[in-house]
Parts: sequence; structure tokens; C-alpha cells
Amino acid sequence: MSRYHGNQFYSVEVGDTTFTILRRYQNLKPIGSGAQGMVCAAYDTVTATNVAIKKLSRPFQNVTHAKRAYREFVLMKLVNHKNIIGLLNAFSPQKSLEEFQDVYLVMELMDANLCQVIQMDLDHERMSYLLYQMLCGIKHLHSAGIIHRDLKPSNIVVKSDCTLKILDFGLARTAGTTFMMTPYVVTRYYRAPEVILGMGYKENVDIWSVGCIMGEMIRGSVMFPGTDHIDQWNKIIEQLGTPNPEFMKRLQPTVRNYVENRPKYNGYTFERLFPDVLFPAESTEHNRLKGKGSKASQARDLLSKMLVVDPDQRISVDEALMHPYINVWYDDGEVNAPAPAPYDHSVDEKEHTVEAWKDHIFKEVKAYELLQNSIPAGMSLHNHTGADGDVSNDCSDGHAENNTPGGSTYNRRR
Ligand code: AMP
Repeated sequence: MSRYHGNQFYSVEVGDTTFTILRRYQNLKPIGSGAQGMVCAAYDTVTATNVAIKKLSRPFQNVTHAKRAYREFVLMKLVNHKNIIGLLNAFSPQKSLEEFQDVYLVMELMDANLCQVIQMDLDHERMSYLLYQMLCGIKHLHSAGIIHRDLKPSNIVVKSDCTLKILDFGLARTAGTTFMMTPYVVTRYYRAPEVILGMGYKENVDIWSVGCIMGEMIRGSVMFPGTDHIDQWNKIIEQLGTPNPEFMKRLQPTVRNYVENRPKYNGYTFERLFPDVLFPAESTEHNRLKGKGSKASQARDLLSKMLVVDPDQRISVDEALMHPYINVWYDDGEVNAPAPAPYDHSVDEKEHTVEAWKDHIFKEVKAYELLQNSIPAGMSLHNHTGADGDVSNDCSDGHAENNTPGGSTYNRRR
């Protein structure tokens, strides 16, 4: 059932959500939902491609939602890299600030999120290619001064040809200070020790999350499924061991007191944490991937360098990209793509009232609409292409519903 509003927009019910969208977008199907709202797949009749449309329902309803929506919109416009989701269009059906309710973001459509892929038996070729693309996307964000700190499988999407894109931009610099009442459970399993313990951080904070994702791909279960920050820390040290006194010295006094008073753990070797049986069988036909030693031992070596509690001892993004397990895919155009204009972090630090946020978001969206309307139909501000394909459901709690499209044949890129 759909309703028409003038000639540009129409409304359609998707589950219990109403999408009021430009008529060019047809045939909506729900594909996921996150903290901000619902995501649908749709057919764009102008470009004849399938797209994803995310509805941000009343993004100014509280300051946490508002800051996130504003930041996401600003960053999506700024960043243009094949491993970061691209913005194709954005609009609001409301014409005035007084009426303003919702924002719709139109993005490239992908086939599934990584939670669904983690459940599959991935061979070394696919696993290393997915990790390589994550690292390229992360490096690109870093080049714009954006350190993600909250990478997780539900915010990484893939296509059946094994291409991968990061969906979001992580935590704002001032994140964590605002309290939000929400029925939505935030997944923290992939957050680095320095984030959990409230320490300073640098770029390789994101390597920890990649390590957790890689470990989960191999094990088939979440590496550190903590129920809260304290339990999360326990899960980490039980497996990796209590960190050294140098690390303890860098903690804030109250945190240090807690951490130092935990039982001491030696941790396990990476051979114990990731025994040979967990790894996919080695194939001999793909010579590109044949380096020194077996693929399993290369993968284990990379894990042992990423899953390091002390960031000073942990591998950097550039080192990970050069690691033998990953560097088989190395392409300078992907690794060192031109950096976007630096992100203005004052957005993250600004505190506004809900009314002021509403005004900011409305102005940004209307300015974007004006700019979009001034360029020929079918072209976007960035030259992103849409993508075909069915998609499956969200797994925002970090647990997959294993409903990846049946034909998920992960074609080899090379
Ligand atoms: P988000 O609201 O951005 O956290 O997205 C929630 C879920 O919707 C993700 O976990 C994906 O399963 C799905 N999703 C979001 N954007 C896309 C997209 N562009 N292509 C395919 N699936 C998507």
C-alpha cells in the first residue's frame, strides 16, 4: 500500500515503518536495522540500479542520535574510497524546519553484513582478501584523521564477489560521555583494551577490532563476548594473559587499581588459541598465496601481532598491510588512495541543544538536495556506482542469523 504526496514523494509501509521517499526509488524490501533506524533495498529507476536506503527517524530526537546522524552525513559526503560505503543521495520529504522529521540516506547496496559471512567456511584466499579490504578502508579513514574505534561485523558489508565496505565512521572523539536510553544493545566485543580502559589511543586501536574479526572468522565464535566492560576485560586477559607492568603504569589510578587486582593469567599461546584444526584446508592451486610457511601459520602469526593488549606492542595498519598473509593483495591505488579533505573534528566536540541540532541537520540536508538537483539526474556528487543483489537481515547484536543469500559464491578477484 502506498500514498502519494504531490509529485516527488510517495509513502510505503515497510514492516511497521513508513518510508516517505522520492518516487525514483521503487520496490522497497527491508534488509536490516541498526540504532538509527531501518534500512531497505530499493530499485533506483533513474540509474537502473539497486540501492540501499536508510531512514533516520527524527535524528534530532536526542543529542546522541543527532550528533551521530550529523557526523555520519558529513563524513559520508567527505570520504570516497571503494572500501567505505558511498553516499548516492540524501533527502528529507519535509520542506520546512518546522515540519522536519526524517532524513533518508541512499547508499550503494551490498549483499550481506559480515556477521553472516563469519558463519561461513571461508578459505584463506577469501579471508585474507576481506581483511586486506578492511585494512585499506581503515587506512583511508585514518588518512582523513578519523580513527574508528568501533569496527564490528554488523557495520561491515560485503558483496558475493567478496568486495567489502565499511558502513559507519565509529565513535566521535567525545563519545561515551552522553547517556542514552535505548532498547538497542550496543555491541562492545570488538572494542580495544585502550577503549575499554579509557586510555589514550592511536590508529592501531582499529587493528584490535580487525584481530577480533579475524579470530572470529577462524573460530566461528566471538573472541571476547563480555557482558559488560569488566567481563570484557576478563575475557581478554583469560586468553591473552595479564599485561605487563609498563602497561599498568599508563592506566588512570582507579582503573589501574582494578586491573592490577585481577587474578594473574598467563594466557595461552596462539597455537593453543587457534589450533590447526580450526583453519581451512590449504589449497595448492593458488600460487599467489603460497608464501613462506603454511597459510595457517601465516594467519596465526598475523593474529598474534594484532591481538596484543598493549597498543605499543601491537602491529600498525601499514605493517598489517605488508604482512605476508595480506600483502598478496597489495595494490598501491587501493592502499594509498588520495586522502579526503581532513575532517573537521569540531563537529564531534560541539555540544548543541536538540533544537540546534535539528536546525544543523535540516540545513545540511537541504544544502545537499540543492547541490544534487544542480547536477544532471542519475549522477551523484561522488562517482559511486550502485550495486545489484538481494540482502539479508541485520545482526546488530553481533550474532548472525545465517541467512546469507544461497548463491553467495565468493568469486575470486584475481
Ligand atoms: P546500520 O543502520 O547502518 O547499522 O545498518 C544496519 C544493517 O543494515 C547492517 O548491519 C546491514 O545488515 C544492513 N545494511 C545497511 N546498509 C547497507 C547497505 N548499504 N547494503 C547492504 N546492507 C546494508
